[in-house]
Amino acid sequence: MNLLIIGAPGTGKGTMSSLIVDEYKVVHVSTGDMLREAVANKTEVGLKANEYMTKGQLVPDSVIHDIISERLAKNDIKQGFLFDGYPRTYEQALDLADILKGLNMKIDCVINLNLDEEVLKKRITGRRVCSKCKEIYHIENKPSKVDGICDKCGGELIQRKDDTLESLSTRLEAYHASTKPVIDYYQQFGLVKDVNADQKPEAVFKDIKAVLGA
Ligand SMILES: [Zn+2]
Repeated sequence: MNLLIIGAPGTGKGTMSSLIVDEYKVVHVSTGDMLREAVANKTEVGLKANEYMTKGQLVPDSVIHDIISERLAKNDIKQGFLFDGYPRTYEQALDLADILKGLNMKIDCVINLNLDEEVLKKRITGRRVCSKCKEIYHIENKPSKVDGICDKCGGELIQRKDDTLESLSTRLEAYHASTKPVIDYYQQFGLVKDVNADQKPEAVFKDIKAVLGA
């Protein structure tokens, strides 16, 4: 089974990806992880990617293309894969279709995690992280016993820069601008399955299993 998972920041995409990989024994393909690995291993592609990353620029599609092609050509991929965080744009979706066609493979399902924007904002902006032990809290869903203090180590709880409303709004805007065309692209092939992410993780995963027919 060859899968894609799509979801805005805060929809629980990471958690669902791990569960899917465990349940269906598919290979988790994350471009972020692959880029970091290529950079660490100083491969040709990694060195190229690093040039952009150190300048704080987006890694160009040509480099992503090479990384994806290399990964999909490996043998373990035949047991199925889950793409997470890719394709990010319409152009990348077209490129992926090309690569897969060349390998005689195809996407079977695109899981689209849906979450109301207001719920998502509450989820993210209510997050607090311990500055010492990194334990994650939420002012409504998982508050610490003493306001602003970590239950585990007594460290100070802080809000990460990424978790402020301003940062989230910018990220969401960018996410929707690039992802909407990707969803539309797969929609024309009837591959997109919407899953309600406004539930407990177990319930979301149950819905994913139902969508995948297992
Ligand atoms: Zn702590």
